[in-house]
Amino acid sequence: MATKRDYYEVLGVSRDAGTDEIKKAYRKLARKYHPDVNREDEDAADKFKEVQEAYGVLSNEEKRSQYDRFGHAGMDGQGFDFSGMEFGGFGDIFDMFFSGGGSGRRSQGPVKGDDLRLDLAIAFEEACFGVEKDVEIVREEICGTCDGTGAQAGTEAETCMNCGGTGKETTFQQTPFGRFQSTRSCHVCGGTGKIINNPCGDCHGKGRRSVRKQIHLNIPGGVQNGARLRVSNEGDHGYYGGPPGNLYVFIKVKPHKTFLREKDHVHSTISLNMVQAALGDQVEVDTLDGTKTLEVPAGIQQGQTLKMRKLGAKKLRSEDRGDHVFHVEVVIPRDLSDDQKELLRQFGQSLTGKQVRPTAGRHKGFFEKVREALSGEDHSV
Ligand SMILES: [Zn+2]
Ligand SMILES: [Zn+2]
Repeated sequence: MATKRDYYEVLGVSRDAGTDEIKKAYRKLARKYHPDVNREDEDAADKFKEVQEAYGVLSNEEKRSQYDRFGHAGMDGQGFDFSGMEFGGFGDIFDMFFSGGGSGRRSQGPVKGDDLRLDLAIAFEEACFGVEKDVEIVREEICGTCDGTGAQAGTEAETCMNCGGTGKETTFQQTPFGRFQSTRSCHVCGGTGKIINNPCGDCHGKGRRSVRKQIHLNIPGGVQNGARLRVSNEGDHGYYGGPPGNLYVFIKVKPHKTFLREKDHVHSTISLNMVQAALGDQVEVDTLDGTKTLEVPAGIQQGQTLKMRKLGAKKLRSEDRGDHVFHVEVVIPRDLSDDQKELLRQFGQSLTGKQVRPTAGRHKGFFEKVREALSGEDHSV
């Protein structure tokens, strides 16, 4: 390792220089040795680094006093990491000096194509069982007519005269700190280094074009509302040999008229009249698999649930299914005929008698409710 120069010497300031003086000296040297300005000078990068390192120490009060007392030895093994101070460390200062200079440094290596988003609404049942769909997307592809060159068949793109094919050009900028040289994308060829005199008719010289593309989607059963499906490599084509992006399908499950879904289970309500609830019944119910007969046990209560197993949605990545859950709603009749009212009154009176009192504890709540409802009605009449 070469011997280190004294930090004050590096910045060209005296040992008792003030903060402002150090900063000024640093800015001057940083401008002089900045790698964007000195592309051909390999020494400049080292000098730039040296200047940064010196400034890193002398601009910090604690580090500076340490350096004043012990010299470079005081800096070694102290865990000071100068590597992090390279170009990024004082980025804010250089952004100010060399705005736009960064773009010229970017190489034209392979770049991945953009990802695409497709919002797709599917039916409730389709989400439960899965569905295959053909959708149409518009994506950017490399033009097949010119193979992405942008030049008409039989012609070739010419080297840009402005940048000599490098895609970069050097510009000068007048700033409050002086005149600066910086490198950026060539404005004539847009950074491609090529000029197309006979552009391809299909892509107008861009080498890429928007193409409508049919994509076959296999949406798995059990998919949830808001799910995002990735279709690999069906996004925009890449740049400079880069891979294509992905297509992301955002699933919106349309609501069902009577069914609700919670994970793999389907929920719906069944309405029963008092008699069905009290005595039990067989009722026809709608399920994902069509009409089924549901056995309602006697004495079912308002709000209780009945389950039909394996009639819910498919479980994702499984052949198994969730359940269909029926929520019982007991409907109290409103528009009773006089005869019906009379029957109910008789029934009500019978309830107060010991002989009709239900025996099973489970049924008790229901009958009590009926009695309360009926006696309530009696009071209001
Ligand atoms: Zn083309
Ligand atoms: Zn050019």
